[in-house]
Amino acid sequence: MKKGCLELKPETGNLTDEPVIRVGLLELKREIKGRLDGFFEVASDAAAGLVFPGEFRARNAAGDIVLAGDFGEMRTARECVLAPRPGSLFTLFGITIGSGFHWERDEGQTFRGRLLLSADEHGTISAINEVPLEAYLESVVSSEMSADAPMEFIKAHAIISRSWLAAMLERRDRPLQQPPGFVSEQEIVRWYGREEHDRFDVCADDHCQRYHGIAGRVNERARTAVEATRGLFLVYNGGICDARFYKACGGRTECFQNAWEDAPVPYLVSISDAETEHPAIDEEKLAEEWVLARPHAFCNTSDESLLKSILPSFDRETGDFFRWRVEYGREELEHIVRTKSGMDFGTLLDMVPLTRGPSGRITRLRIEGTRAAVTIGKELEIRRWLSPSHLYSSAFIIRMTRNERGIPDRFVLYGAGWGHGVGLCQIGAAVMASTGFSVERILKHYYRGAELKKLY
Ligand SMILES: [Zn+2]
Ligand SMILES: [Zn+2]
Repeated sequence: MKKGCLELKPETGNLTDEPVIRVGLLELKREIKGRLDGFFEVASDAAAGLVFPGEFRARNAAGDIVLAGDFGEMRTARECVLAPRPGSLFTLFGITIGSGFHWERDEGQTFRGRLLLSADEHGTISAINEVPLEAYLESVVSSEMSADAPMEFIKAHAIISRSWLAAMLERRDRPLQQPPGFVSEQEIVRWYGREEHDRFDVCADDHCQRYHGIAGRVNERARTAVEATRGLFLVYNGGICDARFYKACGGRTECFQNAWEDAPVPYLVSISDAETEHPAIDEEKLAEEWVLARPHAFCNTSDESLLKSILPSFDRETGDFFRWRVEYGREELEHIVRTKSGMDFGTLLDMVPLTRGPSGRITRLRIEGTRAAVTIGKELEIRRWLSPSHLYSSAFIIRMTRNERGIPDRFVLYGAGWGHGVGLCQIGAAVMASTGFSVERILKHYYRGAELKKLY
């Protein structure tokens, strides 16, 4: 199954069967190590056979895959497919999760479906899992949240993960409307699309959706939620919705065009994440008041047991996400900015928010130093430049203390929310579910004008 396996046109009518998707598990490795729990049929242009349970190693030998294990050694062609006999699973070791984030770690993970090993011209190999969409979703939904999360929330997540994936596959086959940003000497505006994978449809980490295998991860409630919503998609005007989501909006959600290309999406507009209306943030004074206050919002919760139920344990290391604070000494921040941007600003003199979206997220930020002054955007680029990993969000205000010569010596950022803020607020949605809102009400709150439709 090459790129065109799922030929989605803008009309949803073309999707009538459950698609099989290709998930990238490991990319460009010198060697891949794993374990087969069961028997697998090997198929490639050069060799065919049956491999037995046990540990294996795969490497690139002059453009061929060499597979070695207790079953001996097998040299296949550039691509090698291992198809499981019923009930067989495979485990891969050394998978990085949370890449670039503070929870980054390596672990072994177990998968269902076919394992595809592919050699490339660089002497490295990649591992891809071919898996039916609904089985993939059981794992994604389990990876994104704990089994104790409210049921209507798990169902909502199953629907948006399914819709996001189908919309992404459809978009991939269309040329980009605009290049992802522009760069000049004075201004760097970038965003990050999802169209970067050419070997597979989605990666298994936060960049796309977390897909962390099945061992100890797929739980009964995730399975029930996926089954109960099987084939159900969020649609708008006849097309499957690009159902984006993130951890917490901070009280108002953000518009699509403030995080990605300048093309508004009618169902990804800014809304007040509360039963009362919070006005859009359209000036600096309002942004100050907003991030220093703790307004009522669905995602403004300190319900420990609910948070524990919707965030995998490693996310709870993060503390307060609704309103947060980060503090840097000037030299420390200069070092971070230099490392992350590759540019030397000299002595940092000022940071000035130039434009914000209605959620308070800064979309263009001016950074001034003695050697350079540059405006950067959009939100993810700002979050990347101002933290050793990523800032929680770009919805922040900046307080500086200056020394007697007027040079800043400390920068304190007061911020709101966690993530890009476009689409569904996961913590807000979980709070809505726990207080009795149905899956339809939750999805219609975050995706204005969208409907639910069963496609298979
Ligand atoms: Zn990805
Ligand atoms: Zn929210």
